[in-house]
Amino acid sequence: MLDLTYDAPAPKVIAGAKYDWELVIGLEVHAQVATNAKLFSGASTLFGAEPNSNVAFVDAGMPGMLPVINEECVAQAVRTGLGLKADINLVSAFDRKNYFYPDLPQGYQISQLYHPIVGEGEVLVELGDGTARTVRIERIHLEQDAGKSVHDMDPNMSFVDLNRTGVALMEIVSRPDIRGPEEAAAYVGKLRQIMRYLGTCDGNMQNGNLRADVNVSICRPGDYEKYQETQDFSHLGTRCEIKNMNSMRFIQQAIEVEARRQIALVEDGKAVVQETRLYDPDKNETRSMRSKEEAHDYRYFPDPDLLPLEIEQAWVDDIASGLPELPDAKKARFMGDFGLSDYDASVLTADVENAAFFEKVAEGRDGKMSANWVINELFGRLKKDDKDITESPVSADQLGGIVTLIKSGDISGKIAKELFEIVYTEGGNPAQIVEERGMKQVTDTGAIEAAVDEIIAANPAQVEKAKQNPKLAGWFVGQVMKATGGKANPAAVNQLVTAKLGL
Ligand code: ADP
Ligand code: MG
Repeated sequence: MLDLTYDAPAPKVIAGAKYDWELVIGLEVHAQVATNAKLFSGASTLFGAEPNSNVAFVDAGMPGMLPVINEECVAQAVRTGLGLKADINLVSAFDRKNYFYPDLPQGYQISQLYHPIVGEGEVLVELGDGTARTVRIERIHLEQDAGKSVHDMDPNMSFVDLNRTGVALMEIVSRPDIRGPEEAAAYVGKLRQIMRYLGTCDGNMQNGNLRADVNVSICRPGDYEKYQETQDFSHLGTRCEIKNMNSMRFIQQAIEVEARRQIALVEDGKAVVQETRLYDPDKNETRSMRSKEEAHDYRYFPDPDLLPLEIEQAWVDDIASGLPELPDAKKARFMGDFGLSDYDASVLTADVENAAFFEKVAEGRDGKMSANWVINELFGRLKKDDKDITESPVSADQLGGIVTLIKSGDISGKIAKELFEIVYTEGGNPAQIVEERGMKQVTDTGAIEAAVDEIIAANPAQVEKAKQNPKLAGWFVGQVMKATGGKANPAAVNQLVTAKLGL
């Protein structure tokens, strides 16, 4: 295993009019559990279905209907907890959080306030510059999602779609360990990556399957360290919570403007009021939505329809033994086994499909060369066509075949690019194409020597210049390559040109 400890980056400092300020951020991420059925009913979770077609009586809040817990949702929450190196609570319980929403007909949301299924964990958040910070997870609890109110279909009426009502969410609550907008986005990105590896949430932010409530406060340099030492929140500033963000870009923008708003307030001698705010991307500002509600406002109480949830350690162990290799481990392995750079390993492990493709290409071949071909040629080409790896016209075996041909010296790097394009557009076996189309590199020194002699004989003036300035030898190499249709082995050409010019 590689050592994955990095320097923690410096916190984001924002210069105020009078003082410097640091940001403190904690996120509550709502991740829709990837399952076929809802948390407490057998209704489908399929996205985009006809409105109100995925609704069981219990989702519609019909009197007397009883919730029945979906075991797969529990397994997914446990899997997620294990993936975040968190404690799994063998006993947890469901509570009613009472509030009225037209799209939640029960009149309460079933959630886990007092006894969540997952306790403390952690996630390594890496930034683009190679630095990283460990963000602590406070808890993960299971809860129901609400439905959707549609206000823009009719001038006089609102509509309610209950398809989403009762779908299982995991609320992943972080400690306030995030210190800047980029870090917040990287944190959400890392959670998404881990959950995709685990298959517990598809992470689709556009469909609302991953959303975040972003808590932001400001403090003076040094205060955060005092909080870390004592875990005493009084060292931190008053936070505001920005609700329901479902875009990485908006998360960052909202944090930035909210921090500036708080700085302006405090430097003006006013206080930040703890409240829930909404971000308006058009105006790039946050607006007050409601004053912060406390747990007691919701009249939480244990849901009498559901027994405490007890799971067995053996069941948890069984899930643990079935976990896939996770991003940090895979990245470390790629760096160790294939000699990849931090950056290349990150790109290739961004998702499981990319990683699997690369591994197949690199198996028994040069790891770095394979990584270059996957990242630079293949990903570049796919991006041009707006395709992802699962739609790649070039298979891992085909790309591997190309790498083998380069490595063995059968084709030059230049010809390899042509070959790649042929395989990409026409398909076929790379070795066979090279054979059939006469693309093999000329390594026969006799043939290259003849070409070199010819060029030297035809260009006496250039030869004189090159003798004065050896850098001009490159011109001869270029000419020979041209004359051989790019098939001459560049190293051999170089050697012969230098020797023959007497450089
Ligand atoms: P509540 O239940 O009222 O929403 P929590 O204690 O669960 O409050 O905290 C919610 C989120 O707010 C957590 O992610 C936590 O890390 C974050 N948080 C708490 N205090 C601060 C603070 N001073 N600045 C920024 N984030 C904070
Ligand atoms: Mg909260």
